[in-house]
Amino acid sequence: VKSGSIDLMWNGQFASMELNCDCLDALPVCHGACCRLRIGYSVELEPDEVDKFEHREHPTRPGVIILASKPDHSSCLYLDDETSLCTIHERRPKMCRRWHCSPGGQLNDKEIERRDAGWMLLPLRKEEQEFLLSRRQDG
Ligand code: SF4
Ligand code: SF4
Repeated sequence: VKSGSIDLMWNGQFASMELNCDCLDALPVCHGACCRLRIGYSVELEPDEVDKFEHREHPTRPGVIILASKPDHSSCLYLDDETSLCTIHERRPKMCRRWHCSPGGQLNDKEIERRDAGWMLLPLRKEEQEFLLSRRQDG
């Protein structure tokens, strides 16, 4: 893609997708998955942010305040389901600014402090695993 690449990674046990590019280039593939599928959906708010956003208490961590989610808990309250864009992008919480899902994503964004290792795990059929292993052995 224009800003980088979208890579299928194989570590010998499982496959994952790395979105090593800007989020806007990744959206046709990821559909803003980080704002939809994060386990236990939780963006933690710092004390000075709580009053600026719709929020709720973390369901299992008393005293931890997190962003509100949609009534059916399918995504962050502030995600536009049609476009997968953040409706408060310019004033999104610090935790959203500091994180990207993939190690090579948005390299020019100096605000990003944490880069995950590609978190979309992909189930593979046996023949797909064998194909990826053969590609790996080919070098
Ligand atoms: S952080 Fe990753 S999953 Fe989230 S919008 Fe960007 S590319 Fe998509
Ligand atoms: S505030 Fe915006 S960037 Fe943060 S989780 Fe919600 S939709 Fe995503």
